[in-house]
This record gives sequence, structure tokens and C-alpha cells, in this order.
Amino acid sequence: MLDFRNVSFTYPALDETAAMPPAVRDLSFSIAQGEFVAMLGHNGSGKSTVAKLCNGLLAPDSGQVLLGGLDTAVEDNLFDIRRQVGMVFQNPDNQIIAAIVEDDVAFGPENLCVPPAEIRTRVDDALAQVGMSDFTTAEPHKLSGGQKQRVAIAGVLAMHTQMIVLDESTAMLDPRGRQEVMDTVLRLHREQGKTVLLITHFMEEALQADRVLVMHNGTLIAQGSPREVFAQRDVLTQAGLTLPAAARFAQAAELGDDILTEDECVNAILTQYTNH
Ligand code: ADP
Ligand code: MG
Repeated sequence: MLDFRNVSFTYPALDETAAMPPAVRDLSFSIAQGEFVAMLGHNGSGKSTVAKLCNGLLAPDSGQVLLGGLDTAVEDNLFDIRRQVGMVFQNPDNQIIAAIVEDDVAFGPENLCVPPAEIRTRVDDALAQVGMSDFTTAEPHKLSGGQKQRVAIAGVLAMHTQMIVLDESTAMLDPRGRQEVMDTVLRLHREQGKTVLLITHFMEEALQADRVLVMHNGTLIAQGSPREVFAQRDVLTQAGLTLPAAARFAQAAELGDDILTEDECVNAILTQYTNH
């Protein structure tokens, strides 16, 4: 579905004399159709640059990005690429443009020249999928952060893209809003086979992915299943990441180094009490 081949990208320097370090350097990875991949990395590690390279918002200086086999550097491909990948960004307030929820969700399909009658169906379906059917005619500014992000996701769904990229889309939300968005994304992945690239700095979110990529200084320093990646404690330290809270608790309580989730903590505690 998505293929980065030796991709490098450097932002233009504001001051011509100062050389900018590359934001992404010689980066290669792929995401298969139907996969749920989480990308971790500290601030400035290049994650948002990767997101913008996915759909051709940025074009690589060298290397290639292929989305559904289409080269994002070819201008004529961009319309088809944006029919295949939708983006949800960090700040819900910067993504909602219309004054009414349903108009906002219709904006994407309108740009893709979908016939009006079909847009109506798509908007209703998309809002139902994110659990926002009761807010069709609501004013977005009156919604909570989590609800706004779900409207933004509905906007992507209404475009019928196979892939969704979420760039720290839960970062500005409270725990409840984060859970709403995560539940929505997981359901879309499981029930509709959507391909997901979830960029996040919440380890608990990354734990729910099929595969985790760890960015550091514009390149990948680890990838694998969540369990494989979280076992590489030195890599996490290098990337400036901390373990999921449950894993830190398990370490402090000497429950075991392989524990990552709250459920595993509870089981380990129960086992200890039953055995002693
Ligand atoms: P992340 O999303 O992981 O925080 P970014 O991709 O936003 O990382 O940034 C990677 C690097 O590129 C950082 O050093 C950042 O300062 C730089 N950068 C990001 N956006 C711009 C921009 N618009 N202009 C210049 N430099 C940028
Ligand atoms: Mg970012």
C-alpha cells in the first residue's frame, strides 16, 4: 500500500547560509494493505514529515514514495493518491472548515467530484461509523476535542480512502477523547480492513498496532511487533521514549520485564498471590 524507498527530505533553510539537517534521511519501509502500523519518535524525529510525504504534500529530494503503486512525486498522480490516503492531523480546530458538521464531512468527497446524491449517503455512513450521527447538523465549535477528531475522521472516511494516516491526532485530547478516537480507528481497521499509519507518542496506543516503527533523527532505529520493539530497552532510551505505564509499574514492582499491558500486570499479581 505504502512504500518508502531510500527517501530523504530537507526543508529549505530560512537563512540561505545555514545548512539544514535532513528531516528524513535514507528512509525505507513499507506498509501492506490492511496493516495497522504505529510510528513512535520524539519531537523533531521526522514523523510529521513522513506523514506529509505519504500523500505528496511534500515530495522527496531523493528516493521514492509509492502510494498504491503511484509515485507521489508525479503531479498527475496526486488526485488518485488522495483518493487512496486520507490524513487526520493533530489539532482538531485546524481541520474543520465548515460551520456545520455534515458540510465539513462532505468537503472531501466534493473535492473528489463525487455526485451530490452519493455524497449524502457517504456523509451519513461516515458519521454513523464514527458514532456521530446525532451531530449531523451540529456546529463543530460546540463539540469536544474527541468529537471533532471523529468528525475529521468521518471526513476521511467519506472519501472512501483505503488508508488513513493519523499524525498525533490524539495528542490534544483528554483521556476520554483519546479513547474515542482509538476505538474508532481500531474498529475501522478490524471491520473494514483499513490500512492505518498511526503516528503517536503514547506507548499504550502503539501497543495496539500490528507493527511499530521507531523514528530517530529522520530515520528508523527499530521496527517489529510491539512486543519486539518494547523489549529493546536501549533503543527506546536512545529514541527518548519511555515504556508504557503498566510496563514501568511491572518493572518497579518486580513483576517481570516482559509485561506491557495492565491486564498482564493484573495477571502477574494474581499469579503471585495464588502461588504464595
Ligand atoms: P516530528 O513530527 O517527529 O516532531 P517533524 O517531521 O515535524 O518531526 O520535524 C523533523 C525536523 O524537520 C525537525 O528538525 C524540524 O525542526 C524540521 N522541520 C519540520 N517542519 C519544518 C518546516 N516547515 N520548516 C523547516 N524545518 C522544519
Ligand atoms: Mg509531528
